[in-house]
Amino acid sequence: MTGEAMTDEKAAPGVAVYGTDGGGPFVLVSDHAGRAVPSYLGDLGVSAEDRARHIGWDIGIDGVGRALAQKLQAVLIEQVYSRLVIDCNRAPGHPTSIVKISDGTPVPTNHALTAEQIAYREDTILHPYHARITQELDARLKAGRPTVVVALHSFTPEMGGLKRPWQVGLLHNHDKRLAVLLMELLRKEGLTVGDNEPYALTDTSDYTVPTHGEKRQLPHVEIEIRQDLIDHPAGQEEWAARLARLLPQAWALFCQTYGVTPGAQADAEGAMT
Ligand SMILES: [Zn+2]
Repeated sequence: MTGEAMTDEKAAPGVAVYGTDGGGPFVLVSDHAGRAVPSYLGDLGVSAEDRARHIGWDIGIDGVGRALAQKLQAVLIEQVYSRLVIDCNRAPGHPTSIVKISDGTPVPTNHALTAEQIAYREDTILHPYHARITQELDARLKAGRPTVVVALHSFTPEMGGLKRPWQVGLLHNHDKRLAVLLMELLRKEGLTVGDNEPYALTDTSDYTVPTHGEKRQLPHVEIEIRQDLIDHPAGQEEWAARLARLLPQAWALFCQTYGVTPGAQADAEGAMT
């Protein structure tokens, strides 16, 4: 639970970058890895217990992402602030960008915000995070490098009284090619894999993959792991090892299937379906 340490915006610039680029295709992004709250917002009017729930952050994905970055020798870009401050996987102005209530828990500090207060959160948290991702992708594309956007998330095992059976879900919308290949590899491991479950990727409910994957016509995949599997270090390590093994396999299959030469950028024409 490393995100807990970063509770002061002076110590946490809002964006944390992990891993070193070892020349592979993957860029990892984690919109909900952090749970920090800028000090000027206090505790948001939400108890520490509730802020530590799934409504505050994607439990366990910080450990998975950082271990995965190390194993893949890839760069990981993380948002360190809680999604209760502003959700970095929502377009600015989206009804759930700054939530007033989440899974039954009111967020009093988010009620009756002025336009200036909203803009301040966007300018200091949302936009710098996405600008950092854009910077990473721009540099790679300028160098003519193959680039695959991997969005990492985790989901709560139970929602609205319903238990969720999937251990992992892959979300996709306009370009499902890489998601389908990775889904098949995960199923071969004997896992119950959600196909656009527990959530479907859409133009409006998501922001990161539509912005950095779909609009730029970059191969991409959005991965959701069930939180009870990764809320402890051994589980995080297990999932990082699994994804570090399967993501390169999925990418190799992608290159074979769609005629992309590893080392060259995916043909933009073939990138959207
Ligand atoms: Zn998430």
